[in-house]
Amino acid sequence: MVTFEEIGIEKKILDAITDLGFENPLPIQEKVIPILLENNDDLIGLAQTGTGKTAAFGLPALQKIDAKSKATQVLILSPTRELCLQIAADMKDYAKYMREINIVAVYGGADIDRQIRALKRGAHIIVATPGRMNDLLNKRKKINLDSLKTVILDEADEMLNMGFKEELDAILDETPKEKQTLLFSATMPSDVLRISKNYMTEPREITVGSKNAGAENVEHFCYSVHERDRYLALKRIVDYNPDIYGIVFCRTRMETKDIAEKLIQDGYNADSLHGDLSQTQREYAMHKFRIKNLQILVATDVAARGLDVKDLTHVINYNLPDEASSYTHRSGRTGRAGKTGVSIVIVNLKEKYKIKRIEHILQKKFSFKEIPGGSEICEKQLLNYVDKMQKIEINHTEIDQFLPDVYEKLEWLSREELIKHFVSLEFNRFLEYYRDAKEITSPLDRNRTNDRNRTNGRRDDRRNDRKSDFGQRTGPRSAEEGYTRFFINLGHKDDLSPRDLIGLINRSTRKRNIRIGKIKLFKTFSFFEVENDFKDLILNSFTNIDYNERKVVVQITKNEEQPFKTGKGNRKPYNKSQSNRSFKRDRYKKY
Ligand code: AMP
Repeated sequence: MVTFEEIGIEKKILDAITDLGFENPLPIQEKVIPILLENNDDLIGLAQTGTGKTAAFGLPALQKIDAKSKATQVLILSPTRELCLQIAADMKDYAKYMREINIVAVYGGADIDRQIRALKRGAHIIVATPGRMNDLLNKRKKINLDSLKTVILDEADEMLNMGFKEELDAILDETPKEKQTLLFSATMPSDVLRISKNYMTEPREITVGSKNAGAENVEHFCYSVHERDRYLALKRIVDYNPDIYGIVFCRTRMETKDIAEKLIQDGYNADSLHGDLSQTQREYAMHKFRIKNLQILVATDVAARGLDVKDLTHVINYNLPDEASSYTHRSGRTGRAGKTGVSIVIVNLKEKYKIKRIEHILQKKFSFKEIPGGSEICEKQLLNYVDKMQKIEINHTEIDQFLPDVYEKLEWLSREELIKHFVSLEFNRFLEYYRDAKEITSPLDRNRTNDRNRTNGRRDDRRNDRKSDFGQRTGPRSAEEGYTRFFINLGHKDDLSPRDLIGLINRSTRKRNIRIGKIKLFKTFSFFEVENDFKDLILNSFTNIDYNERKVVVQITKNEEQPFKTGKGNRKPYNKSQSNRSFKRDRYKKY
């Protein structure tokens, strides 16, 4: 195995990357670094995120800096603020023992004057998003690129997808003729080719993995549905995967908001990530998702770019991206770090042709699936539940004292009866929920009716005769009258008992007379209800509280914030049984 030293990396950088735990170069680094150190040829690197490309272009760029000059010598352009910050942080890590080198990140959504002051102090390397860079370079004239040696376009396909074509042209037009241009991209759509033709000279091409290939360990599933069933299909897919931890990709901000709101109202542990949120709101949603307080994140492509989560089980394309090549980016977010993943696409009949194009780009086939039926979902949920029950850790110190009474009460039940009771307690509601739900069927595709995995039209019709879907029948989970329901990110796993929770509320609010209603503890989070008069006190008190060295997050549950309104502005009364409401509450147990 070659070493970084053998491919020409100098001591100061070697020491820094050793500190980071880099032992040997990754394939892209082994291929790219020697070329970049040896000459100034232009280069196209076809590589996905996560392959080590930042060091592949970053280490040689750093090594070639002339620290005696203060001029800007390297410009790295990247599509999003998050990526920009990540690259700048990586570069600073690599330059840990090169104190004389200044690296400055400039990106939108942040104070421009501060960035201008940082640039004035000198920036050997600028890492920038195209919009802010163009502003600083061409409009405000705060950057001089006369001494630029290298320009690096990272995730070029994404930058163009995000509509930065004009900005890129305007920036590249301002760079000196004599320079090295490096372009990194996961895919090679026509717009990227155009950039390479216009701005690069006989570039070398380096590919890591096969060109435009999706991650090896990702399976691709396609569900074909009637347009009207798209959302119901999503719910069933999620229900069929009880331990899902995934991103649902939508095409627009509106759609993202809409789907997330529906999922939340239907009791799923979901939230949204899109450009209409403030930076703080976006960071908060990403944080909750990263620490797995959220099971499903509904996101636009752009907003999800900054999210670096390695162990997603699923990526769901609620709608396909406009550019077929963007599918590679979306699906590449699962199946990382040696794990397997599933990328799911929901299409209507008119969109099916797009699958062929994606298959061509991926060089992989999709499996066409039927939307799972109600009983399949119940079975899957039930077995998952039983599985979890088997694996649960038993806290003898806490429960042993209660067991004699419990045994006595259950004495009259045989083992079989006991299991039936236990299963029914949890699942009667679930079964009831799905029993009346209308099944969702694939639209009959006349061209492919012989496909074994596809839906048989006659059976579909029979399934369609069934009653309406449960999702349209139920309202949100609500607190008792006069009480507000709160979510808290602590649960059994944090050794939290109801008594501890009450103590925590009293301590945090510095009051003893708070009227606390129902408390429901789960593994990693809980709900508690507090009389409405104390609502603001709770919100104001839990702003900076730690519990067992964990930052405590308390929020009013979403359904409380967005009650269903009737014409008169009142909360819509529940017209269904308590059992339906309880089911929705239990959905939270899944995480
Ligand atoms: P990137 O594609 O640049 O975002 O890198 C993906 C991840 O791989 C980052 O967490 C890097 O810190 C890590 N990485 C990059 N190069 C190496 C290396 N040679 N050895 C170990 N980890 C690396």
